[in-house]
Amino acid sequence: MHEMGICQSILDASFEAAEAEGATRIKEIRISVGELTEVVDFALQFAFESLSPGTLAEGGKLVVNRIPAKSRCPSCGTEFEHDRFETTCPECGNPFNENIAGRELLIDSVDVEKDD
Ligand SMILES: [Zn+2]
Repeated sequence: MHEMGICQSILDASFEAAEAEGATRIKEIRISVGELTEVVDFALQFAFESLSPGTLAEGGKLVVNRIPAKSRCPSCGTEFEHDRFETTCPECGNPFNENIAGRELLIDSVDVEKDD
């Protein structure tokens, strides 16, 4: 399950950000995941539940924002959303299109708590 590795990377980056701020706890980590990444939400949540106890993120939340896959047709210039398998241009039928969204895997924000 590659979500474990992905989640660990997300946590590592979040710990770094939290420690830089002098935070004592991570309340929420918001990430964006493109539909083409093959990352499964529940597997990611499971990974978070398994990896966060005993860390700054214990009891925190992982919020996943899914980004739809999108491509641009080089023939007619149409931009369209599509699923993982069907990427043909809906306007002209061109099957060879340039992917412009859906491969994202990034941290949007890390919400932390500090001791006063
Ligand atoms: Zn087209």
